[in-house]
Amino acid sequence: MNAEIIAIGSELLLGQIANTNAQYLSRKLADIGINVYYHTVVGDNSERLKQVITTAKSRSDLLIFTGGLGPTKDDLTKETIADAAGRNLVYDEKAMSAITGYYKKVNKKMSDNNKKQALVIEGATVFNNDTGMAPGIGFLEGETHYILLPGPPKEMKPMFSNYVEPYLKQTVNHSERIVSRVLRFFGIGESLLETKLEDLIERQSNPTIAPLAGDWEVTLRLTAKETSAEKTAVLLDEAETEIQRRVGDFFYGYGETSLAIETVELLKERKLTVAAAESLTGGLFSKEVTDVSGVSSLFKGSFVCYTNEAKKQLHVPDKLLQDFGAVSEECAKELAENARKQLNADIGISFTGVAGPDKSEGKEVGTVYIGLSTETDLAVHSLQLAGNRESIRARTVKHGFFDIMK
Ligand code: ATP
Ligand code: MG
Repeated sequence: MNAEIIAIGSELLLGQIANTNAQYLSRKLADIGINVYYHTVVGDNSERLKQVITTAKSRSDLLIFTGGLGPTKDDLTKETIADAAGRNLVYDEKAMSAITGYYKKVNKKMSDNNKKQALVIEGATVFNNDTGMAPGIGFLEGETHYILLPGPPKEMKPMFSNYVEPYLKQTVNHSERIVSRVLRFFGIGESLLETKLEDLIERQSNPTIAPLAGDWEVTLRLTAKETSAEKTAVLLDEAETEIQRRVGDFFYGYGETSLAIETVELLKERKLTVAAAESLTGGLFSKEVTDVSGVSSLFKGSFVCYTNEAKKQLHVPDKLLQDFGAVSEECAKELAENARKQLNADIGISFTGVAGPDKSEGKEVGTVYIGLSTETDLAVHSLQLAGNRESIRARTVKHGFFDIMK
């Protein structure tokens, strides 16, 4: 069973709205094990829609249409599909009484256009529209399953999950389940990660392994197909074990998460508190920690000590600043240690460096020191980052989270 999603609407072609219906439907179909092979978009034009249907029928078993079920002239989905499938349109009593009921309630005169919304394809299954007027439609013609859904997402989504999903599970014969697992990595570039996993990525077809880079992180999406959830889980576990063996040092979490969220989780789990001293990052680390809710039990606070004057307030000795400068391992250590002690935290972290655009203290743009202090340990992570001011600061914060985690 393979599906094609056909979105109808000239506003999609004009770029006025994004085709979020196709995205939603693709995800839902993957969850119930139906492969989606094509997304098609066509304007509100009967001739072109007919061509689309002809092509889609020849390559897909299930055609899901969204849009153009409304009352206006440009809404011609039903008429065109009925015509293409050689079926008649008939009034659906239930939909009609819902529409007349609505107009009675709001005390408005109903026009003939509005009646049009109660038209359905003869012999089809009708899906209730609990959040609008036009019902959805499902039918089988020859070998092709047709599903017609309204365009507005707030109508389409509940209709799909409440009525169409059960209908598809019953009507459409499909035995495969598709399950994805997303692994997130930091501190390794996409190309190096791919090189380390090259043979797996090329050889593997179940699960497939797809890398995706963004925001100085890399994610791997593993997608497995099997007849049951248990079997997909086994396939995913096997593939993940091998991936973790090779690049596990850079792994930090699953699915929709972030370094900040995972760090907070870890600190909560271990019942550890953290305090920060931020020069280079000017509070960015604190912002990201406090963007996560429920951190008051673990985040003690932060000193934004941007100038040397402020660093001295945090007890960095004048002599240290004169001998080594503010951008130095020595200063990073002192800041991390003092932040931890001042706030009675288990972990102290500090950020000092040169974000640019100009050199500072004769040190290159991108020179970064992250200090980490605990009761038993004092370490510095020195980095040389490329990029502009914004990216140097953002990446530094990510490194900070990763350093705490590892
Ligand atoms: P209506 O009864 O509101 O006219 P309809 O079924 O005729 O509904 P359209 O007229 O095609 O649907 O679209 C109505 C609105 O729904 C659009 O203006 C747009 O906001 C939204 N919409 C339509 N198609 C999509 C899509 N593919 N993705 C996201 N939103 C969509
Ligand atoms: Mg419309």
